[in-house]
Amino acid sequence: MKIELDMNRRPDVAHAPTSLAGLSVPALKAEMETFGIEPKKASMRAKQLRRWMHHMGTQDFSEMTDLGKGLRAELADKYTLGRPEIAEHKVSIDGTQKWLVRFAPGIEGESVYIPAVSTKTGALCVSSQVGCTLNCTFCHTGTQKLVRNLTAQEIVAQVMIARDGLGEWPASEEGRLLTNIVFMGMGEPLYNLDNVAEAIDTLSDGEGMAIGRRRITVSTAGVAPKIPELGERTGAMLAISLHAVRDDLRDEIVPINRKYDLQTLFEAIRAYPGLNNSKRVTFEYVMLKGVNDSLAEAHDLVKLLRGVPAKINLIPFNPWPGSPYECSDWSTIEAFAEVVNRAGYASPIRTPRGRDIFAACGQLRSESVKKSAAETRREALAAAEQA
Ligand code: SAH
Repeated sequence: MKIELDMNRRPDVAHAPTSLAGLSVPALKAEMETFGIEPKKASMRAKQLRRWMHHMGTQDFSEMTDLGKGLRAELADKYTLGRPEIAEHKVSIDGTQKWLVRFAPGIEGESVYIPAVSTKTGALCVSSQVGCTLNCTFCHTGTQKLVRNLTAQEIVAQVMIARDGLGEWPASEEGRLLTNIVFMGMGEPLYNLDNVAEAIDTLSDGEGMAIGRRRITVSTAGVAPKIPELGERTGAMLAISLHAVRDDLRDEIVPINRKYDLQTLFEAIRAYPGLNNSKRVTFEYVMLKGVNDSLAEAHDLVKLLRGVPAKINLIPFNPWPGSPYECSDWSTIEAFAEVVNRAGYASPIRTPRGRDIFAACGQLRSESVKKSAAETRREALAAAEQA
């Protein structure tokens, strides 16, 4: 028997035929003009589509009752409302969920939903790039080359997929499970700021996904010149992956420090618009045994943060196969936290979540990169035989 594999047969992916889901209002308007709608009407159509897609979660043009039947049919001829394909979905025993999203053939990235334990919030950790250029030595994504930036639509699609999975359409604000977005997945968001800013516009749109800008946090390893710009363009909350309080150590473990050292970084942080006690910067600090976890470093951290409205997030290091570090002992982490707490900073120790599904911080890495071409082919053959 001869099996023919049609690798192009992907009805639901965002690129073919073009899905409108996740496009920003200006992008939708431009698309409607390309489609042949006159500019004045295109704006109205864009807003109608935005409400159906991003507030209601609609995946079928026929539900769009305020659009004429003819127009619905024409739109459905050219476009879809589909999401990118879900290559893999895993649910952890602690409720954490991970999606491996296939944005295009061979282009895969992860998003992770983390339900809160005590508060009524839940965060989706989204990726901004596939792969990363930064090479932080403790980060698994850092072992992977940059594949490409994600588009604004692809970033928003990660949130739509999570909402689909959680059954949270329409996007009502009452009691929802997905309340916050953190750009702490794969990639460096400030190396993709245009798309990240456009995605945040769409996510925070009150007539659409309705996730307030104060509930969206962007984490950076320290692309200093882009930090104030991030605040001006997005109004999002800022998080900094600090991890070391001295330039020599930070040069080694967060190599972007060689380009923008601690002094440059802190000048940029202080210039972040709107910082005050209710809008603080989150500093992430991964606890690496014998590397950055001494009490002297805890005291230096407090000194370094003087005058910056700050929260400190101590992250137990999550080991990954072949990683060159160990996580600090629990007693060391607690002693470190105590120094920071005594100085008046909230410093929650982040509980590792989703370890059983390899979804913890810094473990995000596209499985597709690890699979060999032969493996992928075998899987495709098996799938075709089953179909
Ligand atoms: N590039 C951005 C966005 C990634 S955020 C940034 O660096 O901020 C991912 C967070 O997880 C960062 O704080 C990163 O330093 C942290 N992290 C990476 N690998 C980790 C690991 N193995 N264990 C714990 N935290 C890790």
